[in-house]
Amino acid sequence: MNIDTIKNGYVIDHITAGNAIKIYRLLDLENIGCQVALITNAKSKKTGTKDLLKIGELIDINLDKIAFIDPDVTVNIVKNDKIIEKKKLEIPEKLVNVCYCNNPRCITSTERNLNQIFNLTNKKEKIYRCNYCETILEKDRFIY
Ligand SMILES: [Zn+2]
Repeated sequence: MNIDTIKNGYVIDHITAGNAIKIYRLLDLENIGCQVALITNAKSKKTGTKDLLKIGELIDINLDKIAFIDPDVTVNIVKNDKIIEKKKLEIPEKLVNVCYCNNPRCITSTERNLNQIFNLTNKKEKIYRCNYCETILEKDRFIY
């Protein structure tokens, strides 16, 4: 893949340096079977360095997962060599099946078919609580 251009797919831009690999893993891009370019420490006028992620196919991607890791990114949707949409993300109010609850007594650890749901309870501090037991979400307990 030419990393400068993609015909159809996504260019996820303005990722905070170091976060592209997290997004890559959380979106399970290594198992998705399409071309992916992960560029770290690219030069950025705004922040000095940034990461970029290019996905060479218009697959279904969970924008909440991206926004949870890095709400300041821009998701460019490319169709026939043109950017048809620039999506600005916002920190999601609700996370469904993005992370596990870390409370061993939580109902989600015994009832395996329950969705893992977290609600944003403090937007400024980016604090999420489990929908069932109210335990504060620990970062990086991702469901891969
Ligand atoms: Zn819980």
